[in-house]
Amino acid sequence: MKNLTTPIDFRANTQAVQSQIPASVQRATRRLLGTRASVVDVLGDERWQQLRKAGHDLRLHTISHLDHYLTLLEERVTEAGGHVHWALDGEEANRIVLEIARSHGVRRAVKVKSMATEEIGLNHALIAAGIQTLETDLGEYIIQLAGVAPSHIIAPAVHLTKEEIADLFREKLGVDAPAEPVQLAAIARAKLREAFLMADMGISGANFMVAETGTLVIVSNEGNGRMCTTLPPLHVAVVGIDKVVPDLESLDVLLKLLPRSATGQKMTCYTSFITGPSRDPEEGGPQEFHLVLLDNGRTRVLRDAATRETLLCIRCGVCLNVCPVYNHAGGHAFGNTYSGPIGSILAPQLLGVKVAGDLPFASSLCGACAEYCPVKIPIPEILLHLRRRVAEGDQVDGPAIAPVVVAGARAGALALSLPWLYEFGSQALRVFQAPLRRGKWLPSLPPPANRWTMARPMPAFNATFRQWWRVRTPEGRDRLRRRRLFAGALATGLAAAALRWWILRRRE
Ligand code: SF4
Repeated sequence: MKNLTTPIDFRANTQAVQSQIPASVQRATRRLLGTRASVVDVLGDERWQQLRKAGHDLRLHTISHLDHYLTLLEERVTEAGGHVHWALDGEEANRIVLEIARSHGVRRAVKVKSMATEEIGLNHALIAAGIQTLETDLGEYIIQLAGVAPSHIIAPAVHLTKEEIADLFREKLGVDAPAEPVQLAAIARAKLREAFLMADMGISGANFMVAETGTLVIVSNEGNGRMCTTLPPLHVAVVGIDKVVPDLESLDVLLKLLPRSATGQKMTCYTSFITGPSRDPEEGGPQEFHLVLLDNGRTRVLRDAATRETLLCIRCGVCLNVCPVYNHAGGHAFGNTYSGPIGSILAPQLLGVKVAGDLPFASSLCGACAEYCPVKIPIPEILLHLRRRVAEGDQVDGPAIAPVVVAGARAGALALSLPWLYEFGSQALRVFQAPLRRGKWLPSLPPPANRWTMARPMPAFNATFRQWWRVRTPEGRDRLRRRRLFAGALATGLAAAALRWWILRRRE
């Protein structure tokens, strides 16, 4: 990931979300879910569940034998004439790509949409080194013009309306752009076509890498993927090590799951299989092919048995589409490349809980993500496990929760385990809150509780359930009667003692 060291504050980020964004996001995610439903329904639930199970087992088998499949992949890519590089982190991956570019005198590069290169900030590194780098996927092209990060895994500009895109084109490209999707696409196409022809280097990621054949598989709906990987004389692919699959047969399952879940298509317009560089210079195509295998924290994810299934992800984005939190906050509130439920489990593991420890809490734990995930990643369970890691620390970071919050949680746990203490505490809170109370609400609380009231008022403590319950069950009524008798007897005894004391004093 980009060198993110400042802790992500999800609550503060949601405050900055522009008011029109949730509506744009919800329109797009509804549409994507609608098309998904139509293609999944055609298959029938039984077949779909079989496919999901097969996808899960296959991905789990692969990441459990990652060393074997990556070694095989390296051998096959090399046999096919490609060059393989290993990058431990984003910085190293960027350095490798820059060295390749410099050694080939690259001045212009074109890129296919790739989350791995977003993750490491490759564009910034290339542009800073003076290499003109252009995103060529329409959505990525738009957000590059806007100077913002993608807000969805498969639809990076989902937060923008067509009117905003038209304004952007007018401002940045100096063209007369109507707010018409077909015409906006035509404007972008004309600009990009020139860039494809001029580029010295094409950069891509990959949806999958086939170990058995050393083949890169790129799934896309725009012809830009093929243009970037076939027109320039040099092709560099930066791919996460988790993207490897054993063989072509595995693709049969995964290529049924991915487009159906992502865009609601049986298959996308283009599925490209790239094995090494061009074999025949006469026929064109890149003369050199480099594959940069990116770790960047993935082997760390692999180490924890409770969270390693995060690496099964095939980046379909459907968990974002069904997530109520994503639909209300949009992608940028997650503060890193990966948003939505997958971002909430992946980012804390890649960036550490000190930086992204807020994200596992950005979930209602409704479970919709796990129900829709095509490879059956148990996202809610991983979220809960990560919340524990945030509180207790992990192999990389110490606890990310402030000691005062931990002390508060412990006090809460103690009160909940002792009924008398809970009752006493809830009655005491009713008294202490009085100066802050405005009607039924507590609009602002002192730190650290102000993290809640920064976003919304807190309902006033009004714990009357126990009183209510007492008069509604025979045991409760009995207990109440006994308490009242006891209180009456105590009051009478105290009054009698006071009276006796008073009489004795008078006699003296
Ligand atoms: S976690 Fe599952 S649903 Fe979410 S992007 Fe990954 S594969 Fe798709």
